[in-house]
Amino acid sequence: MQSYLHTFSSGNDRAKAIAISRSDPPADSELPGIIAPNEHYSFDTESVDGISQLRRRIRDAEYAVDRVEAWSFLLGDYITYRNEKFTSEIATFNMSSATDCVNLGTRMCQVESSSCFAARNERDFPYPIHHRRKQEILWNHIDPVTWAKAFRRHADRKDNSVTTIRFNEAGDFKTQHDIWRVDEIARRLPNYNVFTYSASSYLNWDSVEHFTVNASDTDHDYGDRHYKVVDDKSEVPDDGVLCPYDRTDGKIHCGECVACITDHAPDVYVEKFEGSNR
Ligand code: SF4
Repeated sequence: MQSYLHTFSSGNDRAKAIAISRSDPPADSELPGIIAPNEHYSFDTESVDGISQLRRRIRDAEYAVDRVEAWSFLLGDYITYRNEKFTSEIATFNMSSATDCVNLGTRMCQVESSSCFAARNERDFPYPIHHRRKQEILWNHIDPVTWAKAFRRHADRKDNSVTTIRFNEAGDFKTQHDIWRVDEIARRLPNYNVFTYSASSYLNWDSVEHFTVNASDTDHDYGDRHYKVVDDKSEVPDDGVLCPYDRTDGKIHCGECVACITDHAPDVYVEKFEGSNR
């Protein structure tokens, strides 16, 4: 009888049964040792604004009857849309802050750490670094299958259409596993264009099949194209393209232009301006 009940119960009933059969969720007092333990991060997780609430939300999402639904609201709170350069069709998610970026101030990055716009933004304003550090914590606690399902539900709830996912306006890929995870997310979201900029030339990008990679360590060949900062547009070679946003003084936005977003464009060149490398 039990097996019949199991067989004919709805998906939601099964999810409920699984949730009930699990051990009790960890208590609030246990969370600092389980979710974002300090010793696993390059920054002090206890100093992140709202860390206790974030830990509770991650715990609650993991133990929810409908995990994907719970994650979709949590993840959705950490997806950003539209900035000066990007249209509202592009969702952005960071794997870390710029301050904690694995390539900040290294030879892989094209600008000095003091000139990195994202890092400067984190120094000048209190909000971004906390927000992005929480994104890193989320990234470390969600698998790519759940990320993709949760993102789809989040995007389906939005009034504006979402066509594209950008990984990292701040931060960068740290490990090969990050590459695999984004490729898996992109594989599971074939209706979205997924793209990134990365200076992590020391990782192996050859296995990437489902997202577009703009290589910003232009001393090395990897990804789909180089994305190079130049002091002056006269430096753009004949076989490259000057970023239309720069060429039109901001009239054409990313999203309207898809040069970095798909695989088809040549190398992209952007003009250096005080404080920005992306
Ligand atoms: S080339 Fe196009 S997609 Fe790339 S940064 Fe410029 S406007 Fe955006």
